[in-house]
Amino acid sequence: RNLKKYFPIKSGVFMRTTGYVRAVDDVSFSVREGETLGLVGESGCGKSTTGRTVLRLIEPTEGEVEFDGISLTKLSFEEMRKLRRDMQMVFQDPFASLNPRMTVGDILEEPLIVHGIGTAKERKEQVRELLRLVGLDEDHAGRYPHQFSGGQRQRIGIARAVALRPKLIVADEPVSALDVSIQSQVLNLLEDLQEQFRLTYLFIAHDLSVVRHISDRVGVMYLGRLVELADRDELYDHPLHPYTQALLSAVPVPDPDAKRERIILQGDVPSPADPPKGCAFHPRCPHVMDICREERPEFRDRGGGHFVACHLVDR
Ligand code: SF4
Ligand code: MG
Repeated sequence: RNLKKYFPIKSGVFMRTTGYVRAVDDVSFSVREGETLGLVGESGCGKSTTGRTVLRLIEPTEGEVEFDGISLTKLSFEEMRKLRRDMQMVFQDPFASLNPRMTVGDILEEPLIVHGIGTAKERKEQVRELLRLVGLDEDHAGRYPHQFSGGQRQRIGIARAVALRPKLIVADEPVSALDVSIQSQVLNLLEDLQEQFRLTYLFIAHDLSVVRHISDRVGVMYLGRLVELADRDELYDHPLHPYTQALLSAVPVPDPDAKRERIILQGDVPSPADPPKGCAFHPRCPHVMDICREERPEFRDRGGGHFVACHLVDR
């Protein structure tokens, strides 16, 4: 609710704060139990920062995160540590997020030890079960991360995330580093696990086809703000925000009859340190009006849970 994350910009000999990068700038949304909410946007739009702020891996500058009726932002470090069991993260680069000096067995056992789960013998059996669960050989617990392929390493990252049987997983570009042929296997694994353990996903990616494949609802971010959020098919078939329309027009459609005009946006994404006044998209918007340069459009439900922030829709 009204999440903000501003990173200070420091400069000069005294490293004074001379401004802020508004990575996340007043974002509100909910993720329903058991669903996958996809968050899309170009790099630097604040989707990763949003995901990390939700898990409190970084502290929000302002705003509130509520999980299962509990306000996380008010929790002590110790209370938060216990809740971490329920909220896990899968990272983009499984190689960077797996300690190269630990065996895969140790990597998977670590969260169980931290949360005091089972005896040593029981934990070893759980590690084997986790490996089986993500489609890896249960006898490979003694191997090191570099002995696995990229896709297998992401399976290890996923096994580590489900080790504690969490309720929510924030997956930040979990398949972006993988070959296209491996991507769908990993997406299918995530879907199988979701069904098996009733997981809820906040799924962050820049690839619109990947997000379409896995999400129930999709939110689109631009310059630290959510500009549109709707049910997956509604968003892809009837995008209302000019930025979403432009993004989707760049995605190739398999059916040549369903030809869509490609919308080419002028200019680059402005700096999040100095976002444009009014609607942050206005310098690039093909439909810009006077009001767009002055007033920030409200992010509102236009019916059936289709949220849009655009003055065009307000008229
Ligand atoms: Fe374009 Fe105005 Fe809508 Fe922003 S508010 S997307 S500038 S029409
Ligand atoms: Mg990112």
